[in-house]
Amino acid sequence: MGYSEIQFDKDSIFLVTGGAGFIGSNLIEVLLEKGYSVRCLDDLSNGHKSNIEPFLSNEKFEFIEGDITDFDICLSASKDVNYILHQAAWGSVPRSIEMPQYYEKVNVQGTINMMEAAVKNSVKKFVYASSSSVYGDEPTLPKREGKEGNVLSPYALTKKIDEEYARLYHSLYKLDTYGLRYFNVFGRRQDPNGAYAAVIPKFLNQLMNDEQPTINGDGKQSRDFTYIENVIEANLKACKAPSSVAGEAFNIAFGGREYLIDIYEHLTNALGKSIEPYFGPERAGDIKHSNADISKAKEMLGYSPDWSFEKGIEAAIDWYKENL
Ligand code: NAD
Repeated sequence: MGYSEIQFDKDSIFLVTGGAGFIGSNLIEVLLEKGYSVRCLDDLSNGHKSNIEPFLSNEKFEFIEGDITDFDICLSASKDVNYILHQAAWGSVPRSIEMPQYYEKVNVQGTINMMEAAVKNSVKKFVYASSSSVYGDEPTLPKREGKEGNVLSPYALTKKIDEEYARLYHSLYKLDTYGLRYFNVFGRRQDPNGAYAAVIPKFLNQLMNDEQPTINGDGKQSRDFTYIENVIEANLKACKAPSSVAGEAFNIAFGGREYLIDIYEHLTNALGKSIEPYFGPERAGDIKHSNADISKAKEMLGYSPDWSFEKGIEAAIDWYKENL
């Protein structure tokens, strides 16, 4: 269970792209704690230097401020690297609807650049962030790999294209690629600010400041909210996965289902607030329900998430209480 037992050769070098962001900075923290060398490539377009500040004094950590759409930077950042955990991308479904060309450039071209650089530098494993949004309008629950619908946003399309390229990079160029379809990740260091912030940190921040949060729609939408520890486990286990399951994409979630309105109530209770939410219009590109079948990741990666939503949300609330 978990990832505490997972080990790599002591001289291993990891490259985490998007390492100044939420998920990337959590991956870096754990890898450094385990004693490995870690390089972080991030252009700070959405991430924050403060997320990696504590690592800068660690001699095993190197920060490269650079853009994954620049192939030369991808090449130099992945030199001598054994494992790439590719997290850099532009997130947010609504923002992608406003600026599709930009998403194509960063999320697709940037990902191809990273895979090409990985091949040129003989990187052992290329683990990358995909998304539950690839299921699009497919209504079947739980979501199962192989049963995807039509995507509903440019963001989702970029992740779908990334998965296709990753499959090709495995079959054509023998790069061991593993796609992790994250389902609504939450936890420490997730950005609570900005119009495109994720709901849990955004609501926590607003409630702590006695502001009224907006729920898009009736609040009866459900998601498989996944605590960051489970995502770290999936990344490390994918680095250990055999070549026989490379080229594939896997659901990474806890396998539960929470309604937004219930989460809202949970947060207000935990913070001792009695603020009613404002119910706004539904958002374009959003799906109503999402819940993952995680049996493929369990079988092929040995993924065995041990952080339930309840356990994760308590840890997240504690962290935000101390750090906001
Ligand atoms: P984040 O925005 O916190 O982190 C992404 C990082 O990538 C940021 O630090 C940003 O500065 C960096 N970045 C963006 N464009 C870049 C570029 N051109 N060059 C270099 N760096 C660049 O997001 P996150 O929540 O940590 O997400 C990480 C990955 O997981 C993304 O690929 C995202 O699409 C995917 N994902 C996240 C979730 C979630 O719930 N958080 C769900 C599904 C998929």
